[in-house]
Amino acid sequence: MKDCIFCKIINKEAPADIIYEDEKVVVFKDIHPVAPVHLLIVPKRHIPSVQHLTAEDADIVLHLLLTAQKIAKKENIATAGKMGYKLVFNVGKGGGQIIEHLHLHLLGGWRTSQERDIPGMP
Ligand code: AMP
Ligand code: ZN
Repeated sequence: MKDCIFCKIINKEAPADIIYEDEKVVVFKDIHPVAPVHLLIVPKRHIPSVQHLTAEDADIVLHLLLTAQKIAKKENIATAGKMGYKLVFNVGKGGGQIIEHLHLHLLGGWRTSQERDIPGMP
């Protein structure tokens, strides 16, 4: 969609540190990371937010989750002793969503639970 920064990244019209791509998603580094590993898993199709999903989007939602699982393994943050990770969808302005193109935050890589605790996150 025109004027959407994530669509521009997907179309290679704007720069990003893309670490994974397939026919349905791109994964790139968040420019303002709040964790040692902070990646954004973004569907190539422009869907504004979780509130815009329908049952017909079931395949893409599953694909976002399976991509998160695969990338977490690749980044070596998924296994026991590596603390695991968080997956976050911010929904709407009140939920902290700034970019109105659906994206799943993958956060991890902490060494201690103190380091893990991010203000405002459950
Ligand atoms: P949200 O607040 O859930 O909409 O998250 C948007 C995220 O995108 C924020 O964590 C930003 O730091 C990140 N972000 C914004 N613009 C870019 C960009 N051009 N490249 C990478 N990450 C971005
Ligand atoms: Zn978009």
